[in-house]
Amino acid sequence: MPDALCWIRRDLRLHDHRALARATEAHGRVAVVFVYDTRILSDLPDRDDRRLNFIHRSLEEVDEALRRHGSRLLTVVGDPVEDIPRLAARLGVEAVFANRDDDPYALERDATVARILQSDGRRLETDKDCVVFERQEVLNQSGRPFTVFTPYSKAWFAKFRAVDAAEETPRPAAFWPEASLPATVVGNRTLGEVGFQPTELWLEPGASGGQARLERFLEQIDGYADRRDLPGIEGTSGLSVHLRHGTVSVRECVRAVAGLEGRGSTKWWTELVWREFYHMVLANFPHVATRPFRSEFGGARWPGDPAHFDAWCEGRTGYPIVDAAMRCLRQTGWMHNRLRMVTAMFLTKDLLLDYRLGEAWFARWLLDFELASNSGGWQWSASTGVDAQPWFRIFNPVLQSRKFDPDGAFVRRWCPEFSGFSNEAVHWPADAGPFEQIEAGCVVGHDYPEPIVDHSVQREKALAFLESVAKPGAAV
Ligand SMILES: Cc1cc2nc3c(=O)[nH]c(=O)nc-3n(C[C@H](O)[C@H](O)[C@H](O)COP(=O)(O)OP(=O)(O)OC[C@H]3O[C@@H](n4cnc5c(N)ncnc54)[C@H](O)[C@@H]3O)c2cc1C
Repeated sequence: MPDALCWIRRDLRLHDHRALARATEAHGRVAVVFVYDTRILSDLPDRDDRRLNFIHRSLEEVDEALRRHGSRLLTVVGDPVEDIPRLAARLGVEAVFANRDDDPYALERDATVARILQSDGRRLETDKDCVVFERQEVLNQSGRPFTVFTPYSKAWFAKFRAVDAAEETPRPAAFWPEASLPATVVGNRTLGEVGFQPTELWLEPGASGGQARLERFLEQIDGYADRRDLPGIEGTSGLSVHLRHGTVSVRECVRAVAGLEGRGSTKWWTELVWREFYHMVLANFPHVATRPFRSEFGGARWPGDPAHFDAWCEGRTGYPIVDAAMRCLRQTGWMHNRLRMVTAMFLTKDLLLDYRLGEAWFARWLLDFELASNSGGWQWSASTGVDAQPWFRIFNPVLQSRKFDPDGAFVRRWCPEFSGFSNEAVHWPADAGPFEQIEAGCVVGHDYPEPIVDHSVQREKALAFLESVAKPGAAV
């Protein structure tokens, strides 16, 4: 039987892995490789990037698991367009297997790798793995991609059968013996060799971390529907980071909920389908990676004050829930979904700044950064996307704070200057009288910023601006 190479990218595990399962079922020896892609890494501004840490540690686990089967992980620091064909030639494999990635960059990269391999008499075989249904598998009755979530999810659930989430089991006997692998690329590189430095992570990486998190979450899934909007508690799974890097397989998440009943599991499964929806949108409308989905917003000039952007990024807008969320993002690489919506809407509808500024800021810091979901979430909040929040619905950040963080637990965690405030004042300290502020040790304007904008004023401005774009001809 000929040999093969399995190129892992956003699927850093050995279990339930379609490319690896396919490669090992039909080949004598299968080597597993990861390329630290310098074209991606050179654009990362932070040497202690948490994603690199997560990936690096997850690869350690892949290497360890391969070692237990007598093989090793191969790693290269370079440009996959050159390094994958070179390694394929060096190993003499007939094919390279990989799981598909519909990010525009990945599609172009894979097309080039496929061309080069082909010119050398080899082939690249890609397969679906990171979603249950991809691209054009769930279409509307006219055979076109959906642009509204509810009918998409109905069609998704109607199409789903247990076999769609069946486990894809690799055959370990086919893993390439270490002794005949090229020594120069055997094993993981050190973070230093990749050009990065270690940092703390708030979650355990690797397939073991993903597995443990999934199991723990399943024990409390019944309460998910009631707890998922409360950022002060751990009411959601926190699995997005593992889904992003493939340290859990989406099929194992679906298998875990498919047999359950109750509001919690139904709601959670629907969230996984939101993820599939945004992947499908990116695959069919790739312009959303850089431009609004809705063309009327394409040329819109957002009229906000650019100087407000730094205050938003740094968590000093004078709106506690926004500032707490933005500080949490910087310090952990994580933000709760409710707060992603609140902060995104604040940037676009209170500060009236282009959603792409915030989208790029999230892309820099989120450990679970995913082009499809980030673009989808931002365009939902800015009302520029598919099935977006209607332009005239604008969150009031203080009411959001009172409703979803009623005892101020989340705000106090990230804005410790509020520790002396009552549960009422913590959402809007400017409301507390001077005496209460002095007693609490936090005087607004001295210990905490004055609000940089007035929500009720900005709301009116936003409505006028958005109406002028959404309904051309309306007066601004
Ligand atoms: C402005 C904005 C930006 C976002 N950027 C990202 C991003 O870069 N990467 C990312 O994975 N998610 C993003 N989301 C979606 C969502 O906030 C996260 O997926 C969620 O907070 C992850 O937490 P969890 O794993 O505990 O989710 P859970 O509530 O446990 O949900 C389970 C899984 O479903 C998926 N999911 C849940 N909600 C959504 C959603 N609204 N859209 C798409 N998938 C969803 C995620 O994969 C998640 O892990 C964004 C949302 C907004 C509003």
